[in-house]
Amino acid sequence: MNSSVRPKSKGLLFVVSGPSGAGKGTICKKLLEKKDIELSVSMTTRKPRPGEVEGKNYYFVSEEKFLDTIKNDGFLEYANVYGNYYGTPKDIVVQMLEQGRDVVLEIDIQGALQIRASYPKGIFIFILPPSMAELRNRITGRGSETEDDINLRLGETLKEVAYIDKYDYCVINGTIDEAVNRVVAIIVAEHSRVSEDIYELIEKYKEEI
Ligand code: 5GP
Repeated sequence: MNSSVRPKSKGLLFVVSGPSGAGKGTICKKLLEKKDIELSVSMTTRKPRPGEVEGKNYYFVSEEKFLDTIKNDGFLEYANVYGNYYGTPKDIVVQMLEQGRDVVLEIDIQGALQIRASYPKGIFIFILPPSMAELRNRITGRGSETEDDINLRLGETLKEVAYIDKYDYCVINGTIDEAVNRVVAIIVAEHSRVSEDIYELIEKYKEEI
C-alpha cells in the first residue's frame, strides 16, 4: 500500500495559526457556520475581555491551575503568548478525534509547531494578512493595544512568517468570506485524500458484482 495513504479515519485535526491580527479567530468562527467541525476551547491565564464567555471563548484560569495542568500532562500544546499562558486541553480533543469528529485549533505559531512535532497527521494552515499596513490597521482597530504593543506584534509577525514552510497550506486573509471559503476547500480536499476507508468501499464493490 502507498505509504502516504491515510490510516482508517478518525476525525481530522486542523490547526489554524498565524500572526496575531491576521484574522484566524474570525475565520474559525465563520468556519463553524459552514462546516461540521468542533472548535477546541483553550485554557488561558488572560483576563476575559468584555463579552467573552467562560467555556465558550476560553476557560479562564489562574496561573496556578494552568501550571498544574502542565504538570499533569493535560495539554496537547501550550505557549506563553505576549505574557499570558494559552493551552489546548488534551483529553477533549483526543476524545473528539476518536469519535470521528473533525477538530480545529486556533492557536499561535509556537503551539502549532509543538503539535506538528507530536501529531504530524494534523493539517496545518497558516493565515497571512494581505499586507503589513493592513495588519497594523487591524490591530489598531481592536483598540486594546498600545503603539508599543502594536510595533512589538508587527516585529513578531516577521519572525513568525519564517516558519511558513512547516505548514501545509497558507491562506491570505484579504476578505473574510474568501478566506473562509479557502479553508473550507482545504477541509474538503483533505477528506478527499486516498485513505484506508476507501479500501472498504472497494471491497464492497466486489461483493456487489
Ligand atoms: P487572544 O488573547 O487575542 O485571544 O489570543 C492571543 C493569541 O493566543 C492568538 O494568537 C491566539 O491564536 C493564541 N491562542 C489562543 N489559544 C491558544 C492555545 O490554546 N494555544 C496557543 N499556543 N495559542 C493560543
